Amino acid sequence: MKPLISPTAARQLIDAHLPTIPAISCPLDKCAGRILREAVTADRPLPPFDRSMMDGYAIRAADIADGDTFTIVAQAPAGTPAIELGSTSQTCVEIMTGAVVPADADCVVPYEVTEPIDEQTIRLLNPSDHTTGNCIHPLGSDHPSGKILLAPNTAIGGREIAIAATCGSAQLQVTKMPTIAIVSTGDELVDVAATPEAHQIRRSNDLSIETALANAQLSAQNRTHLPDDAAISKTKLAELIEHNTFLIISGGISMGKKDYIPETLDELGLQNHFHGVLQKPGKPFGYWSNANCAVFTLPGNPLSTLVALHHYVIPAIQQAMGAPERSAPRTVQLAEPVKARDDITTFLPIKLGTNNTAHSTPAQNSGDLVRILQSDGYIELPPTAAKTYAKGETFEFHPWY
Ligand code: AMP
Ligand code: MG
Repeated sequence: MKPLISPTAARQLIDAHLPTIPAISCPLDKCAGRILREAVTADRPLPPFDRSMMDGYAIRAADIADGDTFTIVAQAPAGTPAIELGSTSQTCVEIMTGAVVPADADCVVPYEVTEPIDEQTIRLLNPSDHTTGNCIHPLGSDHPSGKILLAPNTAIGGREIAIAATCGSAQLQVTKMPTIAIVSTGDELVDVAATPEAHQIRRSNDLSIETALANAQLSAQNRTHLPDDAAISKTKLAELIEHNTFLIISGGISMGKKDYIPETLDELGLQNHFHGVLQKPGKPFGYWSNANCAVFTLPGNPLSTLVALHHYVIPAIQQAMGAPERSAPRTVQLAEPVKARDDITTFLPIKLGTNNTAHSTPAQNSGDLVRILQSDGYIELPPTAAKTYAKGETFEFHPWY
């Protein structure tokens, strides 16, 4: 390992050396969860015409001075071109919600405040209530034509798609989904379907990484397992680096005699930005990159893997994709005092209590998967000379995906 750096410095170094991910054109019905890479502007004023907001009758408000009965001269359902009242006083057009208000009308009176006199005639109830502009959504009153309605780097959900559709953007420029490969390493690890020998365990990190990525709207295209073998690692990693934008490697990166990954990445010509972070768990975490591929090396212990994935890898991939900054993070208050270190950052799994309280659920060791299950996420405890944080201190909460 190299000199250890702080978690903040690690994040900064990753951010400064992320691959660029191109934009592609994507049809609207395939844009869910994508990141917008262009501005979407209003192609017409919104609304594009004076729109009736109620089912009822369009009138000229000034006509009410001459009496409260009106003659129906036409019907205006939604989806029909604009019609006119005409010059005769006391006329109205029976109009539906979403229809164009006649240009010579200035007020819509809802059915509920009228009463029929005969087939062609109605009377207004409370005539003095009906004034110019009532129940009309005027042309352009929400947004003028040409206004930017969606900015680049917006995460696309149902509301954004509705705006794009309204503006006639059948395709949007969005970030191309990056290719992500997950690599697990270790001679002791066997497939989930295998029966382990006494000296073996089943592999889980690759699947837990893949699942957490999927819950963060990211998909890995490839899962590869490598034995602790330098030559095989070199051949296989070269191929994966060539064909993927992100490589997430678990295990094989510490001080063990058969931890070949760091030297292999160096030999393959990748630049190392750091290897070793002042944190527990996950101290051996590292980051390598070349112009096309970013390689995260995660310690193999399941909790270390999870912390590194959540704290560094997922935010980095999201940032490279142009995702917006997270909205204000949720803060939680310690429900009881917790121990911390004076020299390194502690990532502490916590269970959420009522009123945003955080209950410590420390794993006895970084491999205790069942204990991790009892936590909702983790908090980051910076080093403190006091070696403890008091009940009530607040920290940013990082939920598990
Ligand atoms: P390493 O980082 O390779 O030294 O591995 C540290 C510990 O994590 C060892 O006990 C490994 O057996 C375990 N480990 C590494 N990779 C995995 C994996 N994919 N699934 C489950 N445990 C793992
Ligand atoms: Mg190993």
